[in-house]
Amino acid sequence: MIFFHFTLIISVKEGEIMKAKVVKDKCIGCGNCVSLTDTAIFDFDDDGLAECKVDTIPEDKEEVTKEAIKYCPTGAIEEE
Ligand code: SF4
Repeated sequence: MIFFHFTLIISVKEGEIMKAKVVKDKCIGCGNCVSLTDTAIFDFDDDGLAECKVDTIPEDKEEVTKEAIKYCPTGAIEEE
């Protein structure tokens, strides 16, 4: 029997601070990131585009923020 082992390479190493920003020119206001993070990290601005509400991503929100980055249909969220 063959076993496959996958290793997830995470760009944010333990102890490093994760930041994220929305590139407004790319955002289409679909709301994926807002829904995924339950408005804790991303929310809509007055123009209906997403914005990152926090200066740094809390450790317990890093995984969901990575999902938001991954599933943004236009690649508008950049990890810093
Ligand atoms: S998922 Fe991407 S395109 Fe959709 S609201 Fe968020 S930043 Fe904008």
